[in-house]
Amino acid sequence: MSWEKNVRRVVPYTPGEQPRGERIIKLNTNENPYPPSAAVLPSLIDIGKGEFRRYPDPKAEDLVEAIAETYGLTKKQVFVGVGSDDVLAMLFLTFFNGGKPVLFPDVTYSFYEVWCDLFRIPYTAKPLDENFHIRTEDYLSPNGGIVLANPNAPTGSLLPLSEIERIVSANADSVVIVDEAYIDFGGESALPLIDKYENLVVVQTFSKSRSMAGLRVGYAMGSERLIRFLQDAKYSFNSYTLSTPIIRAAAAAMRDTEHFQQNCQKIVRTRGRAERRFRELGFCFEESAANFLFVTHPLLPARQIFEYLRGRGIYVRWFDRDRIRNYLRVTIGTDEEMQEFFEVLEGYVYKVRSYGAGEETSC
Ligand code: PMP
Repeated sequence: MSWEKNVRRVVPYTPGEQPRGERIIKLNTNENPYPPSAAVLPSLIDIGKGEFRRYPDPKAEDLVEAIAETYGLTKKQVFVGVGSDDVLAMLFLTFFNGGKPVLFPDVTYSFYEVWCDLFRIPYTAKPLDENFHIRTEDYLSPNGGIVLANPNAPTGSLLPLSEIERIVSANADSVVIVDEAYIDFGGESALPLIDKYENLVVVQTFSKSRSMAGLRVGYAMGSERLIRFLQDAKYSFNSYTLSTPIIRAAAAAMRDTEHFQQNCQKIVRTRGRAERRFRELGFCFEESAANFLFVTHPLLPARQIFEYLRGRGIYVRWFDRDRIRNYLRVTIGTDEEMQEFFEVLEGYVYKVRSYGAGEETSC
């Protein structure tokens, strides 16, 4: 058909399953198992009656201010969007126009290649080393931009700040995006570098450490000049993306630092316990600075474990992709959820072992 040859064809990103039901344990999309700040709900409800008639504040000033205050920035250094996916897409559109390939790791957030395809941005995926760590040297050659998730997903590995700085300082001719969706669970943010490097932009989200994945809020922080370009593109696309209640709720959540810190600490403690349980069951994994662990077992195929768990209402993430087909990404849930998860997993491991699925091996 003639119209079809003019279609912008893309293979869309595949999000993790969102199963419904009471008796499930959902450890597949890196959501936070705890509720958001208690300030969120009242600000969603407590909206003056007339306000829904009006358009929201296109600048989301209240939220921008809360973020700027929290991180000691000027309001002109902050950009907000509908989840960090929206922010990242806008960054790709605005800054990756150089013609040279954009660089990111071969194992990383799979939306990066989707946006490149959508916006027709050339890219090169740089292989992580054999332990799934980023090789800094891969990002020191000419490029059209760089995007790094730090901690990386789905591996959880953290690139030290000194290595991030090496990459940013060696690439003054291109924009470097550091996607810090998981930074609050144990990493050192690259944020202090934005005053030193105009080409650096740091992206964070309310979806993980602030327990608000369903409300969809993300933000970017960078030099005033860079943020201005980003805003110009955004206001040329869709000005009213965040609704009035969401702007208020997110601003209130950002100001509740105590809840935020306690929330992160709980996850980090549970992650430590989960590491020990995985090790006892013979799983191998690298250190994670995120709210998930990326595990593999020397004897048990990941896909079979995934399907066994799924059959029992426990959802983890398995990626049908080269290099990581034998891995599972397990989000850290509550202690109770992890307890149940490990009971079921232990049952499986012992059952398979008793059939003599192989000898003991170590990582
Ligand atoms: N970056 C990374 C590395 C992620 O894993 C995710 C979550 N899928 C996102 C960005 C997007 O998160 P959100 O749009 O919910 O902020």
